[in-house]
Amino acid sequence: MAAGLRITAVDCGPLDIDKGILMTGATGKIDVASSVYIIEHPEKGLILFDTGINYNVADPEAAVKYWGPGMREALGCKMTRDHAIDRQLMKLGYKTEDIKYVVMSHLHLDHAGGMCHFPNATFVVQKNELRYAWWPDSWTSLVYCLNDFKDTRGYNFLQINGDVDLFQDGLIQLITTPGHSPGHQAMIVRLENRGLVCLGADTAHLKEAFQNMAPMPYDWNAEILSDSYMKLRILENSGIPIYLSHDPKDFAEFPKNGEWAD
Ligand SMILES: [Zn+2]
Repeated sequence: MAAGLRITAVDCGPLDIDKGILMTGATGKIDVASSVYIIEHPEKGLILFDTGINYNVADPEAAVKYWGPGMREALGCKMTRDHAIDRQLMKLGYKTEDIKYVVMSHLHLDHAGGMCHFPNATFVVQKNELRYAWWPDSWTSLVYCLNDFKDTRGYNFLQINGDVDLFQDGLIQLITTPGHSPGHQAMIVRLENRGLVCLGADTAHLKEAFQNMAPMPYDWNAEILSDSYMKLRILENSGIPIYLSHDPKDFAEFPKNGEWAD
């Protein structure tokens, strides 16, 4: 087996958001990150898990054109230009061209916003998520921004269908966790010193929601989601820690901004 991975997280779009958007029945506001994970594979090079929010959203006027009127305010997006993934990589001493693979948990606008920076990378996405994002049901279309992927037709996509050991070396496993969106996937990474860690993405927005199996208003299918909660519950019961993209405690505890987990 190859040596383990190194991984760090960055916040590519802080949100001061109504908790009720993240968990059904919740009230009040909550500050959350939009986590993007930068992964260093010993042989395959640099890999991203998700890409965060698009840089245009840092500017309130440009955000109206890019996301549509009112969306930046509705999500309480506080991002600055420096939060975008291209600048985050620069801060860590990388170029966007260094990224060889981009794995997408799903294509919602807080995850797919940085796809534009990686035209030469190989994108790894569940086939049904890619198809759904281009023509979503009207009630879920608010959270898919066509601007994020309308120029990606010529990109190189590995469209997968199901669970995959990405490099057949046990280091990066992709597992389907549909429900929040049709083709949502989580990632299990093997770190040299910590062993297996699960990046649960938006299988739940908050740990509290995951523990209580409380779906969110924008979930595509709550019943299918409950099966995905169980899939992660089994991992958690086996001692594999779960880190969710937007859970404040998960983001705080995860090595980030160039402080590497290995
Ligand atoms: Zn999200």
